[in-house]
Amino acid sequence: MTRFSVQRYRAAVLRMYLRIAVLLALPLSALYYLMDETPDRGLVSLLFALFVMWLRWHTRHDSEESLYYVNWFVLATLCLMLYGAFISNEQLRQEIWVMIFPIVFAPVVAARERIVWAIAGAVAIVAVMLLRPEMPTPLTVLVHVIAYLTLSFITMMLVRHNEQNIERLAHLTIIDPLTKAYCRGYLNEVLTGEINRCKRSGQPLTLIMLDIDHFKMINDDHGHLYGDNVLEQVAAALKHAAKRAGDHVFRYGGEEFCILTSGLDRGEAWQFAEKLRLGVSALDIECARSPHRHLTASVGFWCVSNLREITPTALLLNADNALYRAKAAGRNTVVDFDSIPAGEEGVGRAVVVSS
Ligand code: GH3
Ligand code: MG
Ligand code: MG
Repeated sequence: MTRFSVQRYRAAVLRMYLRIAVLLALPLSALYYLMDETPDRGLVSLLFALFVMWLRWHTRHDSEESLYYVNWFVLATLCLMLYGAFISNEQLRQEIWVMIFPIVFAPVVAARERIVWAIAGAVAIVAVMLLRPEMPTPLTVLVHVIAYLTLSFITMMLVRHNEQNIERLAHLTIIDPLTKAYCRGYLNEVLTGEINRCKRSGQPLTLIMLDIDHFKMINDDHGHLYGDNVLEQVAAALKHAAKRAGDHVFRYGGEEFCILTSGLDRGEAWQFAEKLRLGVSALDIECARSPHRHLTASVGFWCVSNLREITPTALLLNADNALYRAKAAGRNTVVDFDSIPAGEEGVGRAVVVSS
């Protein structure tokens, strides 16, 4: 998940590069045609601009899928730089053309691909030097390659440092500091993604709402710090029970949690919801004012197999409706939204869609 946000960052940098590349390459190609005696430069700039425009067309949406095209952009840039190195007459300018390469590729390509591109650039710099009319000494080639690799290494370290900070920040924004469950702000994002994923794969999606019973009394009897500790224990128990790949546990509100899981049919979803409820009971936290004498939770869920018309709001509302029913039924129980008789859903709440 945190990778998700680094990928988004890379995709944003890629789109920025593409915008800049089009803005520079198009007028440049026109200028070369009009003012220079070497129209091939105009043609190369034009081809580059057209290629970048094609890439931009594919990456116009704001998602990390743009990264699929990143290596094409890097390859085109390397080709352009090699061309630049060959057409510049002065030796220093030839090297500078290829030296810029790591600064371009490091922020956009995935970490594991960086080393491959760094080596490709080093090979390119050796090729540029060997193809000169006057043959360089092996020492000169070595010095240039070392300079190039040092620059690549420094750039890659800086980019990695930046990415680690992004990962840390992304982590902080999606994790609830008290319970370490995902926070509510992240729920909508995950819900939308999971609905789309399950639509494609045909898997059912289940949203479970769990609310601790009589939690106010725990606070009243033992104080808020104790209440906080209970919340931590409940979240840990829920995360322990919901640890399949793709399971997500969110803190929805004060003492209310939301669990998202996919691939379960209605019966299995009920069993899973029951497992979560029992997980809270098994903590055996004393709750003197509860009829059960220990901490319990009420659970409502909605398992949807046909997600075509389903919105995140509908899922949340109906799971919440089921939870409301569980509370009304005396607490410490599980209610399936689809088991509520038609017309009786939503005691005072709206029902948006049903499967
Ligand atoms: P019910 O069985 O109907 O759910 O009763 P309840 O007492 O659990 O529900 P209610 O909504 O009346 O009370 C929820 C309480 O949760 C009130 C609030 O003080 C407490 N709470 C919410 N967030 C936190 C928190 O972060 N820490 C602590 N200690 N308490 C919290
Ligand atoms: Mg409660
Ligand atoms: Mg509540």
